[in-house]
Amino acid sequence: MIPFHEALAHVVDRCAPLAPRPVPADAAVGLVLAGDVVATEAVPPFANTAMDGYALHASDTSAAPVTLPVVAEVAAGHPAERPLRPGEAMRIFTGAPLPDGADAVVMVERTERLDGGHAVRVDVVVEPGTHLRAVGEDMQAGEVVFGVGDEVTPARRGVLASLGVAEVLAHPRPRVGVISTGDELVAGPEPLQPGQIRDSNRPTLLALVAQAGFEPVDLGHVPDDEPAITAALEQGAATCDAVLSTGGVSMGDIDLVRVVLDRIGDMRWMQVAIRPAKPLAFGLVTARGPAGDPRVVPVFGLPGNPVSSMVSFALFARPGLRRLAGHPDERLHLPRLRAEAGEPFRRGHDGKIHFVRAVVTADPGAAGGLRAVSSGGQGSHQLAAMARADGLVVLPDGDGAAQGDPVEVVLLGEPATAAATVG
Ligand code: AMP
Ligand code: MG
Repeated sequence: MIPFHEALAHVVDRCAPLAPRPVPADAAVGLVLAGDVVATEAVPPFANTAMDGYALHASDTSAAPVTLPVVAEVAAGHPAERPLRPGEAMRIFTGAPLPDGADAVVMVERTERLDGGHAVRVDVVVEPGTHLRAVGEDMQAGEVVFGVGDEVTPARRGVLASLGVAEVLAHPRPRVGVISTGDELVAGPEPLQPGQIRDSNRPTLLALVAQAGFEPVDLGHVPDDEPAITAALEQGAATCDAVLSTGGVSMGDIDLVRVVLDRIGDMRWMQVAIRPAKPLAFGLVTARGPAGDPRVVPVFGLPGNPVSSMVSFALFARPGLRRLAGHPDERLHLPRLRAEAGEPFRRGHDGKIHFVRAVVTADPGAAGGLRAVSSGGQGSHQLAAMARADGLVVLPDGDGAAQGDPVEVVLLGEPATAAATVG
């Protein structure tokens, strides 16, 4: 067996970021930038009001209450046609440009409308700058707002729009092919024949790939047949940026994925010191791109047991795929947080790290703000308990954890919130 961190480093080191290319801003959400985004203009582009009220000269209010004539209305998108002279006010609405000459806005709640709107009584003394948004207060022209290694989140998409940036340099979204192997597998809803089971790994992995922000490509199911597995892996490598297969990486003679990967790729077959998901075959297959260019495609031979394939995806494939997508080293892995064991997590010595499927609840009263309890049966075939889990409790080799002990949790999803902590 090899240590977990060694297997992980082996995989991640061999997943090189995909070559960046210009991408329209609309298509860039979820992608990782390969170039800095520099503001070419200031945001806001002009001084404007943060409130509905009246634009005025602050000095005119020093003897408030004071009555001023209202000489114009300034709405968002409609700048005033002339400057504001001393002793005057203009009705102004949120987002409207501050008229030349004005240096403050009094909010409408501190005023009284007089003479059918032709005058206003200002009830308070207003300091210069009140309720103004200055040019460039959000972003200055020339400022690097974000850049290399940053993911284009919805907020960053908004920043690109604020700046009028239509295109960015980004790593493409990895296309990830998924293959399931096994003579016993049935894909559809038809009745099972003796010895058959349904293929759950392929739909699960396709969904995990999509959830992680990559493009899933269904490469189908292949039987335990060497030529068929060879053809499927080669087709996957030719058409995708990475390939995930499940099954056929254990010790048996019919574990043909590792046999094929060894033949067509540069493969390492690992027995990783973890439970579940001990076997992992990871290979690099050289394929030709559409233009005949050679491309090195990582292939993950994940274990066949349904829980193992999911855990292997979470611990190995997802970080490797995120590296292809251009994420920096510190953003490759699922978050690992401290939680309180809500019950005993007992285990025996076997030289492995155990990853225990757990229901994780956000609870400010618990150590680390999280509480973890087992989500049910821990067999690597027990997918229902995996489906209930929000995280994996990490138990290093040893006796496990007692109730109340701090444990480490790999978060798989959003933890439930303890009802008492809401509100
Ligand atoms: P293998 O790694 O091929 O020896 O498979 C290990 C276990 O996982 C066996 O019990 C298989 O029947 C099961 N298995 C393999 N592939 C799948 C799949 N795609 N869906 C559900 N179970 C699977
Ligand atoms: Mg099999």
